[in-house]
Amino acid sequence: MELSSATLYIVPTPIGNMADITLRALTVLEQVDLICAEDTRHTGKLLAHHSISTQTLSVHDHNERARVQTLVTKLEKGQSIALVSDAGTPLISDPGYHLVNGIRDAGFKVVPLPGACAAITALSAAGVATDRFCFEGFLVAKSAGRQAQLHKLKSEPRTMVFYESPRRVVDTVSDIVEVFGSDRKIVLAREITKTFETIYGAPAQKLLEWLKSDDNNQRGEMVVMVTGFKADEDTIAPEVIDALKLLASELPLKKAAAMVAKLYGGKKNALYKTGLELGL
Ligand code: SAM
Repeated sequence: MELSSATLYIVPTPIGNMADITLRALTVLEQVDLICAEDTRHTGKLLAHHSISTQTLSVHDHNERARVQTLVTKLEKGQSIALVSDAGTPLISDPGYHLVNGIRDAGFKVVPLPGACAAITALSAAGVATDRFCFEGFLVAKSAGRQAQLHKLKSEPRTMVFYESPRRVVDTVSDIVEVFGSDRKIVLAREITKTFETIYGAPAQKLLEWLKSDDNNQRGEMVVMVTGFKADEDTIAPEVIDALKLLASELPLKKAAAMVAKLYGGKKNALYKTGLELGL
């Protein structure tokens, strides 16, 4: 395979199983002049495994902006460069955005290779709707911020895909139960492509109990997929309920229901009835 000169190649690497790398990825890694790696020691092991001796340069969150000019200079000389992260597809919850943006702005070709990505691999076996989904990456670490993010997603109709760390998964799923309700279906895919690969799906509360029932269920790398909000004709969207609660805390319920009906559409009588049921 002939590589293009003056080109940045984006090269996915395995997310666990060392065999999950394409023939083209190996050829590119072997033939480029330089491999930019998030962690050169980590990538060094992958390269050694495949007997590849290409020179590496560290490019991570803290230096990638500063690296753009250095790499543009190399591309100007006609060199070809590969970008890899520690695992999976670079730029997907991984460094590389500033680099790719800067190199494209400088007028050079950026060539993506297809390959491993935890989110896509997890979705392909989860049994959740995949015709439309949104990738949310990592939620913030603190519960207040995380709950605020989840509140914004309460009425999201698409499947939501999150990356999560084993240290926070119980807290995150607890927040999902609190914000989305205990019945929302969640599928957790942990250690995909590795020895302890587990894909478990259940309503949110049941999944939380499963996580708490055995520390092993919380271990390793994981993707959390949450099914989207499904509205039937009689369902009032969560943000409409929130607006009703807010207005009813300042106004008589009848007036609050009428205002919410004007703001969001819908029937004021139904909103009034819901308000009564909620004890507003
Ligand atoms: N760039 C990577 C990709 O394409 O998937 C993601 C990198 S991000 C820093 C690491 C997160 O991806 C982990 O915390 C976990 O949520 C998810 N992940 C990576 N490998 C995984 C695996 N083998 N099984 C489940 N989740 C994985």
